[in-house]
Amino acid sequence: MLTHLSSIHFQQAIQTVENTPKQEQVRIGVLALQGAFLEHCLALYAAGAKPVELRSLQDMENLHGLCLPGGESTVMAKLLVQNAMLQKLKCLITMGMPVFATCAGLILLSRKIIGFENQVCLNCLDVAVSRNAFGRQKESFVENLEITCPIFSEQDREEHCNFPAVFIRAPQIMQIGKNVKILARRKDQILAVQEKNMVATAFHPELTENLLFHTWLYKKAQEYKKLF
Ligand code: GLN
Repeated sequence: MLTHLSSIHFQQAIQTVENTPKQEQVRIGVLALQGAFLEHCLALYAAGAKPVELRSLQDMENLHGLCLPGGESTVMAKLLVQNAMLQKLKCLITMGMPVFATCAGLILLSRKIIGFENQVCLNCLDVAVSRNAFGRQKESFVENLEITCPIFSEQDREEHCNFPAVFIRAPQIMQIGKNVKILARRKDQILAVQEKNMVATAFHPELTENLLFHTWLYKKAQEYKKLF
């Protein structure tokens, strides 16, 4: 996918970020154990960030933001435990590091996976999710949703836009805590949320040309970097 943004566009974006002095780069760790991490890395480059692929505990130093991609949440959870990365990831998020999670990433970030209560999750985002709520891979679809843009700071005005939402074996958010803001709905289904430093979508923005969510993450990470 990502045919919309030409390879020239990406080459330029990658070059710009890579030519930026290391200490000025905004480093966003992209969980790269499995799944759609490459598409997130490209989208992050296009948004101006330096993506850092995370496969071990050693990769998790000196980061300013995090991205949890889609894929298979059961496999990711297993590998996170095996590679001793789960606690560190939870710790970074709990300390306020900005995180953007999609699909399986949303499942990982949640506090409860309905029907899979023994599946390991980070228990950070105050939502309960239901896996595979939109059917199997072959039932994947794209639908334009009216969404509320993720809020960057408390002073931000609320803005809405039309977003091309790609659903691939997507989860649905079934319950939300009182501090969780709904960013996208489809009928009565909750599909994107924000809680403090966390934004999560059931759909896949990294497979579209719309960089709204990756830009949110980049800007939040830039702010977060300034704190240290
Ligand atoms: N259904 C997958 C899971 O439960 C998520 C699918 C996706 O990330 N596209 O992990």
